[in-house]
Order: sequence, then C-alpha cells, then structure tokens
Amino acid sequence: MKQHNFSPATRLLGLIGHPVAHSLSPKIQNELIEICGDDAVYLAFDIKAEEVGGMMQAVRTMNIGGLNVTAPYKEAVMPYLDSFDDTAKRYHAVNVIQNTNGHLKGYNVDIAGVLKFFEVKGIPLRGKNVLVLGAGGLARALLNGLSAENVSLLAVYNRTAEKAAELAAQAEREWGFPICTQPPELAFDVVINATSAGMHPHEDTCPIAFPTPWIDEHTVVFDSIYNPAETLLLKQSAQIGAATYNGLGMLVLQALLSYEIFTNRKLENQIYQKFADYGSLQGVESIL
Ligand code: NAP
Repeated sequence: MKQHNFSPATRLLGLIGHPVAHSLSPKIQNELIEICGDDAVYLAFDIKAEEVGGMMQAVRTMNIGGLNVTAPYKEAVMPYLDSFDDTAKRYHAVNVIQNTNGHLKGYNVDIAGVLKFFEVKGIPLRGKNVLVLGAGGLARALLNGLSAENVSLLAVYNRTAEKAAELAAQAEREWGFPICTQPPELAFDVVINATSAGMHPHEDTCPIAFPTPWIDEHTVVFDSIYNPAETLLLKQSAQIGAATYNGLGMLVLQALLSYEIFTNRKLENQIYQKFADYGSLQGVESIL
C-alpha cells in the first residue's frame, strides 16, 4: 500500500452503496488522485437504507467533496439533493454527487461512460447500424443515449420479445426515435450486450445463438459485463474475427467522468486513453 501525505486540506471523496466491498471505485479513484497529484482520498462507505438521509447531511457537515452512488441508492439519494443534471432527471437515477459549498447536485454518467469509451477507442457511432441486446435498465438507458448519436439504424433484441417491443414503443413515444425490434439479417457495425447473460456464475450462457448473421469480422462487439473478462459472446465473436471489448472500460471511464465532476476540471485525453485500457494494463483478474 502506497503512503499518502495527508494534510489538513485533504479532500474526502467516496462511494456509497450496499454492498461496496467488491467495488473497484476506490482503487481506480485513488490511482487517479495520485496521477493528478491531488490532495484527496477516496473511501467506500457501506451504508444502510435508513442512513441515506443522514449520510447526505454528513456530506454537507464534513464537506465531503463528492460521492459516487451505487446500488441500491441511485434513486434513494434524490430527495436529499438540491439540483440535478438533465441525464439524472431523464433516468431518475443519480450515480455522482457534487458538493459545492453545501449545494448537492446529482449527475448520471452511466451512459456517458459507454459513449466515452467508443470515442476514446475511435469507434464512430454516427451513421452506423447498432444492435442492443437486452430490454432491462441498462438497455433502456443505452437506447436513449444512442438515439442522440445519429446512428443510421438502432435495433434491439431481447430473450423476452414482448419486453423489447414495449421498450421500443415507449422509446418512440418519449424520444421520437424509431427502434427496430426485428433486427434484419445483416452484420451490424456495433453490437452491445446489455443483458446479464454470460455474467459470473453463468459463464456458459450467451444472449444470442451462434452462428448469427448479426456479427461478422467487421463488427465491434461490446459486452457491458466484465466478470468474466471474456464472456461466451466475446469469445465466439472473436473467433469470427470481430473486435471485442468487455465492460471494464465503461466502468473505468465512468469513474473518470465522475472525477471531472468532483474536481470541476477536464482530464487530459492521455489519461482517458490509459484508463480505457485499464483491464489489459492491470490484468482483469488481479483487480476483480
Ligand atoms: P436488468 O434490468 O435486470 O435486465 C436484464 C436483461 O438481461 C433482460 O433483458 C433479460 O432478459 C436479460 N437476460 C438475463 N438473463 C438472460 C439470459 N440467460 N439469456 C438472455 N437474456 C438474459 O439488468 P440491467 O440493470 O439492465 O443490467 C444488465 C447488465 O449490464 C448486467 O450484466 C450488468 O452487469 C451490466 N452493467 C454493466 C455496467 C458497467 O459499468 N460495465 C453498468 C451497468 C450494468 P429478459 O427480459 O428476457 O428477462
């Protein structure tokens, strides 16, 4: 463990949730603090549901600079905050809190993390055919985010087809963006897995059956899962020659976007590049 020179001015940042014992945030954020040479420390707080209000008061009293919020408190913190950015309002969920002299503002950087990952990796979305797998919370937020990216075709596929149809109908009503629920038999430019199929301990499951017309050697396949580092979907896609990425980059870039909000300044592109490859740099197994 590295020695940190704390001072009376050391800024406290942190994470609240339950449980938080396996969170990667303290490791990522403290590494970021060190790289940026800031006088701050980031800790994880495992709190009970009835303590959420008290914790928000403590943020003001102790002048905690900012917090990440993880499950199950992304909605529960909202009544205690003073203002919100548009994304937090749209998803009715907060995963970053910024404290400016006792004014607590809630943000949501979930989808910004995925979009930033594509940007940093140089994978354009504009004019591309994109297929989202899943119809749960992440798929909904992704479809919303992607509908503003000028993609040429946005399609959704889910194990339970009715849920995908419901989601697409709702999306069209709310955002006025058409979403195709019967993906055509073509190789998509980008396929994003927003299901939990393939996640530990169900490593032998896959959200789609192979062979599939939707993936070829030109497709970029992004899996929001990072445990295991290579899901069955990524393994089978890589065998076809597709470019594959797991969800660690998305998680890590969310941490960087949070840090920008905590510190009110932009991080250099170089830092984004370094952290987008966090999994391969560190060896995913060693940090999970
Ligand atoms: P959710 O609301 O519970 O939705 C789960 C989705 O997975 C549903 O569409 C469900 O289909 C589908 N599914 C579950 N098991 C399946 C299987 N065996 N075969 C095919 N489809 C299956 O979950 P969520 O909040 O959207 O999260 C989805 C995934 O995103 C999770 O794996 C989570 O780890 C990941 N995630 C990653 C990050 C990150 O930072 N990397 C952030 C958020 C979420 P049905 O409708 O048919 O049940």
